[in-house]
Amino acid sequence: MSRFEKQNTSSLKVKYSFQLRELDKACQGFKPTVRVIDEISGLREVCDRLKGSKEIAVDCEGVDLGRDGKLTLIQLMAGEDTVILIDVLVLGESAFKYGLKEILESKEIVKLMFDCRNDSVSLWYEYGVKVTNVLDMQLLEYMVRAQAGHQFPSARRSTHWHKPRVRGLDATTDKYVRFDDKLSIGISDVRRVKERATVLMRAEKTVWRYRPLTEGFVRYAALDVVMINVVKKALARYKSLEGNTLKKLEIASERYVSARRDCERIDDFYVSHPILICYIIPEEIGGIIQPFPYEGSKCSGCKRMLTSSCMRNGKCGDCREVERRNGPNRR
Ligand SMILES: [Zn+2]
Repeated sequence: MSRFEKQNTSSLKVKYSFQLRELDKACQGFKPTVRVIDEISGLREVCDRLKGSKEIAVDCEGVDLGRDGKLTLIQLMAGEDTVILIDVLVLGESAFKYGLKEILESKEIVKLMFDCRNDSVSLWYEYGVKVTNVLDMQLLEYMVRAQAGHQFPSARRSTHWHKPRVRGLDATTDKYVRFDDKLSIGISDVRRVKERATVLMRAEKTVWRYRPLTEGFVRYAALDVVMINVVKKALARYKSLEGNTLKKLEIASERYVSARRDCERIDDFYVSHPILICYIIPEEIGGIIQPFPYEGSKCSGCKRMLTSSCMRNGKCGDCREVERRNGPNRR
């Protein structure tokens, strides 16, 4: 049996029945309708409908998403009340043949994502899908904090870039999403749902290749994509998505989506570091968005072409900061 051949969920149920029940219970009350698509007939209809959307929230599940991992599920949410789960494990390549590839690569349809880096690597290396036109909410959250002055080199130790780390979806939810936002989707305790699922996912790393999906995992997967929408609304209270903010986020998201996918490095020690690699979010000086410093020399760490002024000893400011925090020998 190949490593990723689908497995029946019954063995999962036997091993983790208590935790699975807990997860199901925690997910009760979830309001959006969740539709699991694992047949081509349903897929065609769903893609035709999604093609008319302006904006779709997208998330992926799988085992070790990235170059060597396995993508098994794509969650999509266009309207307020229905989440579509496309079962890539069951459908394989066919999942992308009936419009899904066009949707993900469309320059017209905005894809709302939260940390699109690994999802985009998996989609590209496994299925040749190049996700385009992304607005990444993880970057928006970073921009909200940057607005409060977190992002700059410390005045006292100006040689170091005291850059904050990017936040995960759960931490972002905890920080910005209000109780009534959660109630609106029928789950007041998102953290509890996440914890229940995380216990299982830690115990059984390959949980996303079990089929059929249990009720709890269907709702959990749906919840992630719902939370992307909820987080977007919550962040808009701090920074409205228009004008230069929107333009900067568009540029940054396009860089982010290709950060690992189009990176020369095979190991991604530098580009996967939770310090946000610089030149992702463009600078703005006097209301003008500054261009990316492409020209110059290649950083020996992250392999990006950057202006020579960013470099010292062949490495850019980010890579020097990553090494300062982790030590140069940890690769
Ligand atoms: Zn570098």
